[in-house]
Amino acid sequence: GFTINRDYLCSDYPFTTPTIYHSSAPSTLCSSMAKMTFDGHLSFDHVENAAKDFGNRYHLMPSAVLHPKSVSDISNIIRYIFDLGLTSELTIAARGHGHSLQGQSQAYQGVVIDMESLQVPEMSFHIGEHPFVQVSAGELWINILHESLKRGLAPKSWTDYLHLTVGGTLSNAGISGQAFRHGPQIDNVYQLQVVTGRGQMVTCSEEENTDLFHAVLGGLGQFGIITKASIALEPAPRMVKWIRALYSDFSMFTNDQEHLISSANTFDYIEGFAIINRTGLLNNWRSSFNPKDPVQAGQFTSEDKILFCLEVAKYFTPEEADHIDQDVDNLLSGLNYIGSTLFLSEVTYVDFLDRVHVSEIKLREKGLWEVPHPWLNLLVPRSSIHEFAQEVFGNIVRETSHGPVLIYPVDKSRWKNRTSLVTPEEDIFYLVAFLSSAIPSSTGKDGLESILTRNDRILDFCARPHLGIKQYLPHYSTTEEWRAHFGTQWDVFSRRKLSYDPLAMLAPGQRIFRRSH
Ligand code: FAD
Repeated sequence: GFTINRDYLCSDYPFTTPTIYHSSAPSTLCSSMAKMTFDGHLSFDHVENAAKDFGNRYHLMPSAVLHPKSVSDISNIIRYIFDLGLTSELTIAARGHGHSLQGQSQAYQGVVIDMESLQVPEMSFHIGEHPFVQVSAGELWINILHESLKRGLAPKSWTDYLHLTVGGTLSNAGISGQAFRHGPQIDNVYQLQVVTGRGQMVTCSEEENTDLFHAVLGGLGQFGIITKASIALEPAPRMVKWIRALYSDFSMFTNDQEHLISSANTFDYIEGFAIINRTGLLNNWRSSFNPKDPVQAGQFTSEDKILFCLEVAKYFTPEEADHIDQDVDNLLSGLNYIGSTLFLSEVTYVDFLDRVHVSEIKLREKGLWEVPHPWLNLLVPRSSIHEFAQEVFGNIVRETSHGPVLIYPVDKSRWKNRTSLVTPEEDIFYLVAFLSSAIPSSTGKDGLESILTRNDRILDFCARPHLGIKQYLPHYSTTEEWRAHFGTQWDVFSRRKLSYDPLAMLAPGQRIFRRSH
């Protein structure tokens, strides 16, 4: 590593391309912090882990990492730094599971709060007409799943991967194949406890401190640290029919997806993905999926360079087992996929929800998990999706995608619309996610630079105003770009920043506001 001018992150806009920063703890402030007492502990050594994330591109070394054991540990450190006021430049970042992509949970020379250390309150379940579970915000969704299932319950809305924290996904949105029905995870929260950027501990919900509640949900960690959350639950299914079917025609694919998300009687999970120039794909699936018609499927050859795969799931309980196949057949009838390419599988609910973890284990074995991940997530309005597909799949991403490319629609007219999450203006929009992995130190097409150049081409195209495309898990370099991202929501977002985190101490890795000093 190398050292850079510390002004870099504190005062220079626009920010330029990141690299690796190493620094020693800067100031006497740290030695005075070291004298504070905590229920947990504050560490100045071995802080390297807090300078890493899943994206594996940004490495901003903090001065200290707080491992809190109580919510007061968090409010004490925030209040301490807040009270230093303009004499300090220290920033604070909550780190959930560190699965950000561009340093969003890092704090250069600041204090990182390791949220997974906070194991209070213990998970507590409230059974009744509207069951919910109260959890620490550092809890992983996979743990919540396992504990809820013991009571026959489960959260309603998920992410594709469950080894993420509640605080981390609620700071973004938490969008997956259930969001068309239940909204993203931020729509399925009854109450939060938040420590604001002034160090105040506040309970908030739709009824109480509503402005803070809406601010924090999808708020990119800008207004406070979520310490506790009450998550809505529903009766859990036991089993899942998991289904894939291919399309070579993009319009037929999206028409069917849109039909499915708007039907009253439909699947419980609706996603889809693009398959770019991949041979042997169906053979790969055969370990977990069975073709409905093996003879016909054996004859299917993908001559098209791009195929689109509808991925749906229907949940069921043991009582529903004797008619589930008929139910699924009914839902599939009338869809326009290529007949011979219907693939079915039956798995437990846990195996379905935790499916990406299986890939993680395989990739880890091959040393391909901890590689750079130049991911790009977009929200594309329905009216632009065909122009988008034509340019992106027709010109920019023709040969290979370097990883999965998800494409599925949601309808936000069923969502709560007062959170900080930024979405396109139209009700129906597509989540399009380029989940690329770069081969470390490759300078070829599968290397980081080449994939970033491709992403830039996609982003350049998406910047055309008439397309109305927004980034999800947004990442920008200048204040102007952030303003454009928030559009009409910018005034509210910046007003809230001023009231809840007036010194702009929190989540500096999002690079939206500059620490006041
Ligand atoms: P971190 O990376 O630790 O933190 C994210 C941001 O939130 C940071 O700015 C951090 O400071 C802030 N933060 C963290 N905890 C708190 C808190 N308690 N209070 C306030 N701020 C906090 N997203 C989806 O929506 N749908 C998906 O299907 C999906 N799949 C994914 C699959 C994989 C393999 C990965 C790596 C990511 C995926 N994501 C998905 C993105 C994921 O939701 C975000 O990256 C999320 O931020 C990760 O959670 P984390 O706990 O690792 O958060």
